[in-house]
Amino acid sequence: MRKQVLFTTIIAAFMLCACAKENKAVADYVGVEEGSTATTEATTDGAENAIDDNENFVTIKDLMNNPDFDVERKEEIRKDVIADIVNESYTVTCKKCGKEVYSCFTEIIRLPEDYTEGASKINEYMQKELCGLQEYSVDNYALECGSHHGDNIGAYYFDNDAIDSVNVINNKYLTVDISSCCAIGGLNRFFDNNQLIFDLTTGEKLSFKAFFKGSDNEFKKIVKEKYGDEASLKIADWVLEDGHYHIAYRNDTVVLFATKFDLTGASDPNLVEYEFTYREMFGTDTLTK
Ligand SMILES: [Zn+2]
Repeated sequence: MRKQVLFTTIIAAFMLCACAKENKAVADYVGVEEGSTATTEATTDGAENAIDDNENFVTIKDLMNNPDFDVERKEEIRKDVIADIVNESYTVTCKKCGKEVYSCFTEIIRLPEDYTEGASKINEYMQKELCGLQEYSVDNYALECGSHHGDNIGAYYFDNDAIDSVNVINNKYLTVDISSCCAIGGLNRFFDNNQLIFDLTTGEKLSFKAFFKGSDNEFKKIVKEKYGDEASLKIADWVLEDGHYHIAYRNDTVVLFATKFDLTGASDPNLVEYEFTYREMFGTDTLTK
């Protein structure tokens, strides 16, 4: 019974957890039909019951009104060269035993409003991420005081999204690298890496197809000719499906990447990377739309 409960919890938390958002690899790993978005799609068969069963979860917002828990909110700002990085965090403590049972934080960037024409739109996009933080889900199992006894159990529930770097490429495009890590009890960690790229003039979030003008097959051919192993081709498929994940733009190169966790399901934050020059990938000297 316990095993089944944990299994259900793990699957559901996987899908609800911010660190697994829209990640095709994670969806594949837990056997969810491709293209489904776990939290919104209606139940179509028994296998998805666990994912759609929100009764096992409450949000941080719910816990703010629950007399059994203290919810502490903090906001910290650190200065980066290009933008401020705002860190908002919530820590949930069980009043009955005094243990911290859940914590999470999300980071966003805040550009100076006059930085470029598109800055305010980019800031708006980012702010929405912060506003969503109160909707983060906490597993009911983490809230039962009976589960707080014994070392470390409570502290192992967390969900963090951190900004690793902010960069401007070709004076036109802003990149924001985000890494996520969450734990849903026990020692396992789930990892996700992502890069957002914005047009600094329009404020628009861009996808791979904004830059790559060739066909899907032409893209796959480029990857196959330079690397061609199973992982590189799988990542190429993910980039084509989504256009926002598993690809990052650097000053001189474009990188296809995945965590080992994406590729194997094993708890491992290390990245597998495949690098291309702009010339190799786009036939241009630098990043251009
Ligand atoms: Zn407790």
